[in-house]
Amino acid sequence: MVILGTWAGKPVVVNARSNSLTVSVGDPTDADVVSYDFEGRLWTAYFDGTSYRRGLDGKIVAKWRIPGRERDRRWLPRDEALAIEERARCLVENLYHAIERSEATLNMSLPPEGEVAFRRAIAFDRERSLQDAVRYHEVYKPVGILPPDQYMAVVLQLTEGCSFNTCTFCTFYKGRRFRIKPPAEFRAHAEAVRDFLGEGLSLRRSIFLGDANSLVVPMRLLVPLLDVVHEVYDVEALGGMYAFLDGFSGDKKSAEDYALLRERGMRRVYVGLESGSARLLDFLRKPGTPQDAVRAVRAMKQGGLAVGVIVLLGAGGRQFAAEHERETIRVLGEMGLDSRDILYFSELVVSEGMPYAADAAQAGLNPMTHAERLAQQEAIESALRNSHGGTPRISRYDIREFIY
Ligand code: SF4
Repeated sequence: MVILGTWAGKPVVVNARSNSLTVSVGDPTDADVVSYDFEGRLWTAYFDGTSYRRGLDGKIVAKWRIPGRERDRRWLPRDEALAIEERARCLVENLYHAIERSEATLNMSLPPEGEVAFRRAIAFDRERSLQDAVRYHEVYKPVGILPPDQYMAVVLQLTEGCSFNTCTFCTFYKGRRFRIKPPAEFRAHAEAVRDFLGEGLSLRRSIFLGDANSLVVPMRLLVPLLDVVHEVYDVEALGGMYAFLDGFSGDKKSAEDYALLRERGMRRVYVGLESGSARLLDFLRKPGTPQDAVRAVRAMKQGGLAVGVIVLLGAGGRQFAAEHERETIRVLGEMGLDSRDILYFSELVVSEGMPYAADAAQAGLNPMTHAERLAQQEAIESALRNSHGGTPRISRYDIREFIY
C-alpha cells in the first residue's frame, strides 16, 4: 500500500507491504529513503547521493557513482554502519511521531501491518543491532559468496567450506575444512536460521544451499538433507532451492539425479566455469576440465534444472586472453544454454597474498585493464547472440559487492 503525504513541507511516501516498509522523505531527486524487513532490520538506505545496503550480519556497503566513472563502493567500519542505522531509525521514528501528532499529513491511515513495521523498525536500535549481529554469527559460519540473484535468499549451510579449495583466484573458503552436516545438525541449523530471520523471512525470495559445493554431496546423503529443508521451510512458497556446484571431481550426478533434485524443489545450479580453456583452468588450479562442465550442465538441463554459468573476465591476463575468449565461446556453445539460464561475467579481483598474484608474477602475465575485460565480455556475448543456440540472460557478478 503506497501512502502519500507531507511533513515539514517535504513530500513523504510510505510503502507498507506485508514483508517490508519503505519510507521516503524529500523531493524525489534527493529524498532520504529507507527500507526495512518485517523484523525491523534496516535493509537499504539512500542518503545524500549514496546508497547503503545492510547485511544480516550488520555490515553495510555504501555505493555511489560519480558521473563518467565506474560505480564506487566501500564497506563501512562498524561505528559508521551503526550511525547509518541510527540515522535511518531516527528518520522513521520522527516521522512516526509526527504522524501520531498530526504534524505529518497522509492521504490515508497506516494499515495495521504498517503500524507494526514502523514500531519494529523503531525498536531495532543500536543495542538490538549489536545483539542481532552476535546471533547471526552463532547461526552461521562465514557465508563466503552467493550469486548476485541470491543475495535475498535464506542461506542454509548444508555443507561448510569448499571440497576443492585449490583455485588460486579464490580465497572465500581458505583455511576451512570441507564437511557435510549430518541430518540432525543440519535440522538444528535450519531451525536456528528460521528463528533468527523471524518475520524477516517474508522478505527472502529463495533458499540457497551453501557453501561452495553443496551439490557435491552424494545423492544418498543429499536427499535426506533436502527433506529436512522441506520439513522446516515451505520451499515452494520461498521460490525453490538453489546451489553452487564448482568443479566436478566429486560425486558425479546423472540427468536422473538432477531430475530428482528438481522434484525435491531445486531450481537452478550455479557453475563456476571460469574459462573454456583447459590450459587456463590448469593455470588457475581449478579442478576438472571444461568438458566436465559441459557434461554437468547438459545433465542438469536434461534433468529440468536451470543453470547459472560464471565466466572469469581477465583471468590469465593478456597472454591467455585470446584463448580464454575463443575456448569459452566454444564451451558455452556446447552447453546448450537458453533463456532460463544466466551467464555471469565476473571480473578477476586479485588481492595481496592471493596465490594467483604470485603465479601471475612468476609467469610474467600482463593484467588486463577494466576496458579490455569489458571488451572480452562483449566478444563472448556477441558470439553467443550470433550463434544458433538459445541466449541466456547476461548479468554482471561483482564479488566486491556480495552481501547477505
Ligand atoms: S572450487 Fe569454487 S569455491 Fe572452491 S576454491 Fe575453486 S572457485 Fe573457490
